[in-house]
Amino acid sequence: MLPLLLLACAEIEPGSPADDPDTHVLVVGAGMAGLTAAKVLHEAGVKVTVLEARDRIGGRTATETIGPATVDLGAAWLHGVRGNPVADFADAHDLAYVPDETRWLTLYDEASGQALGDRGWAVMEDAYDGFTRALGELKERLGPDATTAEARDAYLAEQDLSAQDRRLAAHAIDQWAVELSYAGPVEEVGLAYFWDEPELRGGDQFPKGGYKPIVDTLAEGLTILLERPVTQITHGDEGVTVLAGGETYEGSHVLVTVPVGVLRAGTIQFDPPLSEAKSDALSRLDVGNLEKVVLVFEERWWQGSLEFVDRDQSGVFPEHYDITELAGAPTLVCLYGGGFSREVQASWTDEELIAGVLQTLETATGQTPPTPTHTAVTRWTSDPFALGSYVFLPPGASPEDIEAVAAPEGERLLFAGEGTERDYYGNVHAAVMSGLREAHRLGVNKIVVPGWERW
Ligand SMILES: Cc1cc2nc3c(=O)[nH]c(=O)nc-3n(C[C@H](O)[C@H](O)[C@H](O)COP(=O)(O)OP(=O)(O)OC[C@H]3O[C@@H](n4cnc5c(N)ncnc54)[C@H](O)[C@@H]3O)c2cc1C
Repeated sequence: MLPLLLLACAEIEPGSPADDPDTHVLVVGAGMAGLTAAKVLHEAGVKVTVLEARDRIGGRTATETIGPATVDLGAAWLHGVRGNPVADFADAHDLAYVPDETRWLTLYDEASGQALGDRGWAVMEDAYDGFTRALGELKERLGPDATTAEARDAYLAEQDLSAQDRRLAAHAIDQWAVELSYAGPVEEVGLAYFWDEPELRGGDQFPKGGYKPIVDTLAEGLTILLERPVTQITHGDEGVTVLAGGETYEGSHVLVTVPVGVLRAGTIQFDPPLSEAKSDALSRLDVGNLEKVVLVFEERWWQGSLEFVDRDQSGVFPEHYDITELAGAPTLVCLYGGGFSREVQASWTDEELIAGVLQTLETATGQTPPTPTHTAVTRWTSDPFALGSYVFLPPGASPEDIEAVAAPEGERLLFAGEGTERDYYGNVHAAVMSGLREAHRLGVNKIVVPGWERW
């Protein structure tokens, strides 16, 4: 026993909050950031209570059963597995993931009414690669206040392309590089820090069975109180008081992991109020609007995944993933974001969104789709506990703003979440990294959770 005990002592910074037996950390939010921090602290012997607004855990990861299909309505991919703490955790707990081997078989150009072949895909890939390679020069030329739309125009102005190829190239830049990755409108995503995040190696992977097995394994052994929407947080020299769902909770520290959209909306009252530095940073950041429409069918009547280049270049239902193998039933997931998403999320009903996707599929395949047996429509944009998909930097915002959101206020109020991780914001791994960061801040020097010993 003795060596084990010595090992356990060595994990905690002497004199730190984690070293104090009276420490009780209240974690607000049971998404990946909150669960990560709670898990690490709990395994280090620190008392932790998680307060979650929803009636489920996982936050912006949400694996749902839609009829016979299992589908991730929030995050679906592990973006790279090397240097990714999510993959490290999954590996250590025998939770499998599989490479994304999506077969993109249909590319439809609405303006010409044509389904295009390999040449069309090649034009798009060239544009995507060329644009991302040119970013350094474009940033220098266009200055700190430029948007990605201005960069796209400047890049395309120098390319010798036919009208159709120009449409395809613009679609690849707008959708692949900007609106389906950063989620914000191409006219609003800033150029200055665009594409600066280090890419994790190992390719995109899908966790098997969705994110749920990872989320559930993380949550094992933790005290998580559901349906506790936090509305007020008071912090001072003596400790913290949190008002959640009409109940009051006392603790020594509070770690707030709610999304940046929720912080920006001001639905949680802080006493004393958040510092000017944090409030200003929050007002400069913005949150994108990636959304999904899921259609489950009796039979797989289509072929592979499908890209739709709409007539007006406005991002109308651009991507349709065939996830039949993953979901366990014939399933298409439409992904859309940016300005189109903002517009339709604000004004279209679920029925209209489903009809819109079905119409897009009909136009692109030339077949009338059968009626889906089951459907799901996401509403992250208006969900009061998300208020958007994830953070992006408009012109005028910088990674320092993300650092300012991450900064503790006083000794007892701490922050985590994807939107607090300056190098990797917008991803599940960013959320997990932020949770690990805050557990270290509280004094956990060496983590004992399997998979995270080196983090
Ligand atoms: C459609 C979509 C697709 C995505 N795809 C991917 C992907 O493929 N790969 C990837 O890596 N990332 C993806 N992301 C991003 C990823 O989901 C997030 O970055 C990550 O899950 C955020 O985790 P978090 O813990 O920071 O926040 P959340 O998961 O949002 O957790 C915060 C928690 O706080 C709770 N909460 C909010 N307000 C309160 C309150 N007042 N009181 C108490 N609790 C509250 C929320 O309910 C939530 O559970 C996607 C996101 C969306 C929306």
